[in-house]
Amino acid sequence: MSAKQQVNNKTTLGEHAIVIGGSIAGLLTARVLSDYFERVTIFEADTPPDEAVPRKGVPQGSHVHGLLAGGGAVITKFFPDIHEDLLAAGVEYGDAMTDVRMFVGGRWSPRIESGINQYVMSRPLLEATVRKHTLAIPNVELRVATSVSAYAHSTRDAHGAGPTHSTREASSTTNATKTVVTGVTLEEGGESIAADFVADVSGRNSKASTWIEQLGYARPQRTTIGIDVGYVTFEMQGPPDKERDWSFVFTTPGSIPDETRGAGLFCIEGGRYLVTAAGNHKDYPPTDWAGFLAFLKGLPYPDIYEEIKDLQPIGEAKEYRYASYLRRHYEQLSDFPAGLVVLGDAMCSFNPIYGQGMTVAAKEAEYLDVCLLKCVENGNMDNLAQSFFAGAAKFIDAAWDGVTVEDFRYPQTRGDRPKGFAVAKWLNSKFFALSATDPEFAVAFSKVFHLMEPPSSVLKPKYLLKALFAKKPVYDKSPPAQRST
Ligand SMILES: Cc1cc2nc3c(=O)[nH]c(=O)nc-3n(C[C@H](O)[C@H](O)[C@H](O)COP(=O)(O)OP(=O)(O)OC[C@H]3O[C@@H](n4cnc5c(N)ncnc54)[C@H](O)[C@@H]3O)c2cc1C
Repeated sequence: MSAKQQVNNKTTLGEHAIVIGGSIAGLLTARVLSDYFERVTIFEADTPPDEAVPRKGVPQGSHVHGLLAGGGAVITKFFPDIHEDLLAAGVEYGDAMTDVRMFVGGRWSPRIESGINQYVMSRPLLEATVRKHTLAIPNVELRVATSVSAYAHSTRDAHGAGPTHSTREASSTTNATKTVVTGVTLEEGGESIAADFVADVSGRNSKASTWIEQLGYARPQRTTIGIDVGYVTFEMQGPPDKERDWSFVFTTPGSIPDETRGAGLFCIEGGRYLVTAAGNHKDYPPTDWAGFLAFLKGLPYPDIYEEIKDLQPIGEAKEYRYASYLRRHYEQLSDFPAGLVVLGDAMCSFNPIYGQGMTVAAKEAEYLDVCLLKCVENGNMDNLAQSFFAGAAKFIDAAWDGVTVEDFRYPQTRGDRPKGFAVAKWLNSKFFALSATDPEFAVAFSKVFHLMEPPSSVLKPKYLLKALFAKKPVYDKSPPAQRST
């Protein structure tokens, strides 16, 4: 790697970095790369609108998107001014336990002060605001309506000598030579754009694994877990004068595996309500308004139905079918091209019900920052991808294990139950039971759910002992408690 250069008081690792994909994960990645490269170009296939409205390239954007507190913390760290901007746009920001009404596992979550703060807004507003702040960075550029169709590459001596030649004969790559990704090829016109570093953040349908295979590398192993979740969403104007003691309401199946239905109601900017109904294992919600309301009325507790039954939907229902989790195990590859990483849904796509995708992507960007700083200290980017994938796999594992254990309770769920599944399932149910009666534990458990703390933070003897004796709470059909403050 070239000698370090100082640009705008920042240390750089090269002249140009490219980000493929300008959605949440791509924008946050560009923010990180802007500290290390003289300029960063984001290539985005879609043309994101200036306004906060759903767009074609992110079809999931019409549906309820929860930003976990762990993700919000990373975003506000990257963009210190964004908080004010979000509030000015009408985003609600409050305590993730006090200001939220949640029916989880057959009981109401305690509405206690947790100190865990969460933003509630539409996905398009979050993306538009993050985009605005990313593009305010002087060395970041977004090229819209520009699809990337391949990586440009060359080979170099594996012991560090610089690029030797440019070739498509990638299958001849051996231990003695190393492929270096040297940029990207654009779909339209086939133009090659050179870069010192490429981040592939092009979402779940990313072609990264195919493209590295074409360069002579093994494809990553995939893990899929089939859950067949269906989402149906309606938007409406919320009642103007009604008092609310919540920013969102959330209902999950009361008893798994017997129940498959849940829903989320968000109060988003502009006083609008966004309601998503979800059904696991092909128990898809209806798309007509009357059927949708009936679905909500039939939930373990019909509070979302009560909140919206007299309102009028704006426009048609939006529908999304999500068949399976998909994880590509880049961390298991023994060899990987230099000058490239893969992040976001391109690496791991989670069951959307648990709201982890954007937060895990934010944490990946944060961890890429750590790895790049190490590169600056070392004076080269050797093994950057390997270190990044290995570190990211640890917190992806934590997020993945915490929620897949719940989905595996359904016998219909497709995929291999992990070793120790029976113990993990038992422990999780004990933790849910304890969080119903022990406020201190409820907060600690919630911090793990919000990806603020690792699972080890609740695996402490004091909690494990209490959890051992925790009794399963009764299935609670009583009305929800009001916010206490
Ligand atoms: C129904 C649903 C609900 C969800 N709910 C939540 C939630 O509540 N909370 C949460 O945190 N997450 C949620 N997620 C996940 C969340 O949407 C993603 O994790 C998040 O968008 C980050 O993804 P990404 O940026 O990696 O990819 P995406 O958002 O999919 O974006 C990929 C981008 O790459 C662009 N692109 C693709 N190919 C190319 C190419 N060749 N060249 C240039 N550009 C390209 C696309 O146009 C797109 O803009 C949900 C997902 C779904 C499906």
